[in-house]
Amino acid sequence: MRRIYILLLLSFIITGLTAKDFTVVIDAGHGGKDPGALSANKSIQEKDITLKVALMVGENIKKKHPEVNVLYTRQKDVFVGLNDRARMANKANADLFISIHTNAATNRTAKGAETYTLGIEEERTERNLDIAKRENGVIFLEENHEKKYANFNPNSPESYIIFEYMQSEFVKESIHIAQYVQTNLTAQAQRYDRGVRQAGFLVLHATSMPSILVELGYISNAEEAKYLASETGQKKLSNCISTAFDKYYADLNKQMGNAAMDYLVENETPDATSVVETPTPTSNTDNKPVFKIQFMVSSTKLDSNDKAFKGLTPVDYYYDKGLYKYTYSATTDYNKILQVKKKVNEKFKDAFIVAFINGERIDTQKAIALYKESNP
Ligand SMILES: [Zn+2]
Repeated sequence: MRRIYILLLLSFIITGLTAKDFTVVIDAGHGGKDPGALSANKSIQEKDITLKVALMVGENIKKKHPEVNVLYTRQKDVFVGLNDRARMANKANADLFISIHTNAATNRTAKGAETYTLGIEEERTERNLDIAKRENGVIFLEENHEKKYANFNPNSPESYIIFEYMQSEFVKESIHIAQYVQTNLTAQAQRYDRGVRQAGFLVLHATSMPSILVELGYISNAEEAKYLASETGQKKLSNCISTAFDKYYADLNKQMGNAAMDYLVENETPDATSVVETPTPTSNTDNKPVFKIQFMVSSTKLDSNDKAFKGLTPVDYYYDKGLYKYTYSATTDYNKILQVKKKVNEKFKDAFIVAFINGERIDTQKAIALYKESNP
């Protein structure tokens, strides 16, 4: 009897989870009065390539996964602001955002495909900044852009500092699909591999879900422009993106299935209800990652009861690159910090998890991996 009950519950949880409407937003870069980059002879425009490829990607996904909700930021040749693109995705509560572009450079021999996630690379390469500048420069075509984008100046390197502390929440998933896309672009479509990279793209910054921006190739390179504009090329490129989606989506469903299993295993233990929460040892954290929530930075040191903390107490801080970085909570339990983060996000929506070992800040993804290793 119990077994049957468990099986029923299991199938309910698994189908319930996988049948959850997954929404992917396909974003065809540029459009309307914004042609994007142009080929050397000006006959080929980025906005036409991105639209065709975006629609093909969407069609492929719909065919293979009828249960997936496919949305587009545009389906014809119209201008859409960067914030509006992101807003559409946020409003739809999308699970993934894929922005499609083509690259351009004054050096006409530059070629290859690359896939971006939001962020700032350790070595802030001049070239990544140039690409972000060009793609973000679209906002100059939008009315009232100073106000809409809080005086963000696409051409000023200083403006890009805002990307340094943000959106770490979705970085892992974004890189996950970015790698699949990039692998396909190189293996299936034989594009020259420029790798998975990070740069400060406004459109990715404004989305609150895993998001990537694909630069299919260089429209400024005569040979690549021809490929990008051809139907064969567009078919291949869109297949690269949609089959990357297939893999990513399958991974997610597998993860959800596993989570359902874990849930059942935990709840099958007879004394599950009497499990008492054990307090996290605060002393013995030697060589173990300690997770905290970083919620704000300041160039001056603030009083522990400063109004800026919005009632969060006690707060802690560490000093890094001339800034006081304020944190809340400290635990070696990654699951616990996820709960805390939710609470803090109600007051500070950009707050994110940071990790330390023996008081030294370490990469959060690395810390999570260490945590998972010692808590299988
Ligand atoms: Zn573009």
